[in-house]
Amino acid sequence: MNTKLQAIQKISSFLKGTNQTLLLTGTHQKMKHPLVLELVLSKYPAPATILFRTNNLKILGETLGLDRDPKIGKPISVQRGFTLFPDTIKRTTWQSSPRSIDIAIVYPIDSLKFDAGGECIQDLMHRGVKKIFLVSWTDNVDFSWTEYFNPVHVIYDAEEEDSEYHERMMEHVSVRSGPDLPSLPAYAASTPIEYLVQIWCRGKCLNTRWAKLNLPYPGEVAIRKAELGKFRAKCLKCGYEAVDNSNWSR
Ligand SMILES: [Zn+2]
Repeated sequence: MNTKLQAIQKISSFLKGTNQTLLLTGTHQKMKHPLVLELVLSKYPAPATILFRTNNLKILGETLGLDRDPKIGKPISVQRGFTLFPDTIKRTTWQSSPRSIDIAIVYPIDSLKFDAGGECIQDLMHRGVKKIFLVSWTDNVDFSWTEYFNPVHVIYDAEEEDSEYHERMMEHVSVRSGPDLPSLPAYAASTPIEYLVQIWCRGKCLNTRWAKLNLPYPGEVAIRKAELGKFRAKCLKCGYEAVDNSNWSR
């Protein structure tokens, strides 16, 4: 199960590790970005500059409990040692943002595709960003463009805290098929597309990896709901065999 606890653990180790980008998806629509913010403020060494990039500044105001909506380019002191700047996923707002940032939180990423998403991440990199969080709202669109940036993938579902809500959201998650797959890394390119799935490799890799399934990929809902043991996936990088299908996607 993709619980809050495992999300906290994975995000915390990402903050300490060397990976630059983290993709956070899952059915807990409105609880993912507050969790990221909370963990950044409690685990990342201060002083640090945070950029919150959104499509709606109200979201940030509500998350921080502000009386007024935040303004683009106006710093908000969120906690001793941390300064947070808001901007939006619209390029025209980026010129007001600080030239140097430590952490970027992009939420929601639902409307971004390969071009706009790539442009957004390149801009963050030009600002010297150390950690990028790409956070989804509703997982009914294709986030495979993020694969290009080799993110650590963490899933935070509502299942444990509110199973009815989780089930409702799972029904919205569309079944994705082959043609939308991103350009695959070389180590996965020779495997037939219908047998490919992404896993969190607990073998040598300790990273998100493409793996080969024992059965053709049935879609995200079906694979995440399948009974344990029905699907097995072998990491194409190190050969580790995974059975924790509730985490898999593509
Ligand atoms: Zn592996």
